[in-house]
Amino acid sequence: MDRERLKIAMLSVHSCPLERLGGEDTGGMSVYIRELARELGGFGHKVDIYTRAHSHLDGRIVEMSPNVRLIHLEAGEVGEINKLAIYPHAHDFARNIATFSKESGIEYDLIHSHYWLSGCVGTWLQDWWNIPHITMFHTLGAVKNAVGVGGTEPELRIESEGRVVEKCHRIIAATEREKADLVHHYNIVSDKIKVIPCGINLDLFQPVDKKEARRRLGMNGHKVVLFVGRIQRLKGLDRLLGAMSYLRQDEDVKLMVVGGDARTQSEVERLRKVSGDMQIQSMVDFVGQVDQKELPFYYSAADVCVIPSYYESFCLVALESLACGTPLVATDVGGISGVVKQGENGYIVAGNDPVYIADALGALLSGQYTPDSVRDAVIEYEWSNIAEAVVEEYQEMLKKGDHSKTFS
Ligand code: UDP
Repeated sequence: MDRERLKIAMLSVHSCPLERLGGEDTGGMSVYIRELARELGGFGHKVDIYTRAHSHLDGRIVEMSPNVRLIHLEAGEVGEINKLAIYPHAHDFARNIATFSKESGIEYDLIHSHYWLSGCVGTWLQDWWNIPHITMFHTLGAVKNAVGVGGTEPELRIESEGRVVEKCHRIIAATEREKADLVHHYNIVSDKIKVIPCGINLDLFQPVDKKEARRRLGMNGHKVVLFVGRIQRLKGLDRLLGAMSYLRQDEDVKLMVVGGDARTQSEVERLRKVSGDMQIQSMVDFVGQVDQKELPFYYSAADVCVIPSYYESFCLVALESLACGTPLVATDVGGISGVVKQGENGYIVAGNDPVYIADALGALLSGQYTPDSVRDAVIEYEWSNIAEAVVEEYQEMLKKGDHSKTFS
């Protein structure tokens, strides 16, 4: 094995990393996989990302960036199906990967799986190939259930996560909090877990002149509060609408909600109704999905970006907003406490009550706030640094050879 040029099988069964971002299942994990793979390829490693064929238009093999290929293989019927409905086909998907790699003569050095469905596929492949398997859950079913917002995750998921935790060789957690959650909910020994945060593309996410950004987006002279993310209950938009209702008397403030696709339309309709009930519908603009390359204009045009979530594994939006020089108001979730310096580049609000969000918004919108080093907080999160840390973890795992012990 050439340790300088690793061959990596990356698994993203349910979510194609090239799908448009901001949809029901296309957010931070897709960005993570794209960006990490691009950096790994740039270092000279070979990365094959395996995902489910979800459209007959998908090319079987797509060259994504130097040394990085996306490979579509079948798992059940080709077409959009619910995540849970993929599970019965996960074993076939693993077999399809094994057949594809055999026919193509590729032998991988390691497996890197993302999300529990891919984790399951990884546990089968690790035995068939006798190579190490590192996983990243992105969100945890047991934690979602403990939060108790937006539906219950099925026992199948929790049990499967437990099996993946036990069987895989290493786990990357995005935060110390996620590590603690893994230990607490899945009874795992903590030295199997390495904490490596998520990253930011600092070339893409740069401050744009506010006036220019606003002109481009056709915004008038309003104060702009921004939300960016997938539209789902866990993101806490109800709380943000509640906070906006406290600012109702200030007709100058607008909330822009970026994200959501056809599959989340009913949730958008519900939120529109909530805005109507609160008599703030004229303050709220549901923009829908925005291409990531356009997002720097949104972040830069905004006065403040709000993350009102109940749960985040990490939250890339926090890094993106700060990288564009826009302060945050956020609940204390994911990796946000690692980047927000209270009162310097934003506020982490103490509780769940929308009034706390409204207070923090008031402080940031009052105009006395002149952040000069907002972006500095995220410079160290550049993807190349994150990818280096991930490679170190790969090397450590290969050196220890834990996978061989499975067979001794
Ligand atoms: N995003 C996007 N367009 C949208 C909405 C979101 O490109 O319309 C991207 C956003 O830039 C971010 C990701 O989706 O990189 C969301 O990641 P985050 O970690 O904040 O949330 P998650 O999806 O993991 O819950």
